Amino acid sequence: MSAEPLLKVTDLKKHFPVRGGILSRIVDHVHAVDGVSLEVAPGETLGVVGESGCGKSTTGRCILRLIEPTSGEIWFQGKDVRKMGGEQLRALRRDMQIIFQDPYASLNPRLTVGGIIGEALQIHNLAKNNKEIEERVVGLLETVGLRPEYMHRFPHEFSGGQRQRIGIARALAVEPKLIVCDEPVSALDVSVQAQVINLLEDLQEKFGLTYLFIAHDLSVVEHISDRVAVMYLGRVVEIATAKDLYANPKHPYTEALLSAVPIPDPKAKRKRIVLQGDVPNPIRPPPGCHFHTRCPIAEERCSRDVPQLKQTTPGHWVSCHLRG
Ligand code: SF4
Repeated sequence: MSAEPLLKVTDLKKHFPVRGGILSRIVDHVHAVDGVSLEVAPGETLGVVGESGCGKSTTGRCILRLIEPTSGEIWFQGKDVRKMGGEQLRALRRDMQIIFQDPYASLNPRLTVGGIIGEALQIHNLAKNNKEIEERVVGLLETVGLRPEYMHRFPHEFSGGQRQRIGIARALAVEPKLIVCDEPVSALDVSVQAQVINLLEDLQEKFGLTYLFIAHDLSVVEHISDRVAVMYLGRVVEIATAKDLYANPKHPYTEALLSAVPIPDPKAKRKRIVLQGDVPNPIRPPPGCHFHTRCPIAEERCSRDVPQLKQTTPGHWVSCHLRG
């Protein structure tokens, strides 16, 4: 990346305590995020992909300080996010927004759409009076492709795609720089998914937004991402430009994920790689390379030594003893 990163995450860890026994003591930890490092340049979209439970959403929430990381560094616009408090944290909450997977659960059912979007404006003092709030809400609804009169309706009156547009309008209301899109289209029909992704792309161009786009499916992030980070059991195993990753996957896990993505050309064939076993329990992740219990090419050292994320070709990083 040439530009100074907008967001820089170094060795981020989040271990959730597991309590047990009658005294509810901490008996173990879930290693949800286990040493994630990544950078996102201004105006870039970094796709973050992996199976459910790989730590991608927890990474996003740690970046936003919605949950406190166990260790590691998060820098946003050159400022240490983990040390922020008071007014700085308030400003961060405006600069970084999140769009959730389930738009319905994330919208207050008791508020009208106008109330939901207007609330964001009020919290951050972005409108002087009710008239200005209303004008801004109307403008935001139009920006996301919804009719202004929808502001008087409640979330349950909308389809999933429309609700997601409302969530996007709420995020946009505070003029953020970075939006964490946490599986924003996973709960939507395929035809609606494309519409929402196209809208996000248009908004990025119009407002110069930066996205961290989380998904469990490589086909979803291919179109929208400049670069893609693949995660497995709390770690980034490969990171590259979207073009390079899809054309030349290097990590065996990425190869397996990609082999499940349909190719538009019916004549082209890709050999399907079916991984054996399930994702191991994150309370006791396998030693060495976390992927060694399912890796088709694992060697003896894989269960002992942790592979480091190494740059193999310019901008293409892989964490594998045999491919790095
Ligand atoms: Fe497979 Fe070993 Fe590479 Fe891990 S380090 S991906 S187990 S070959």
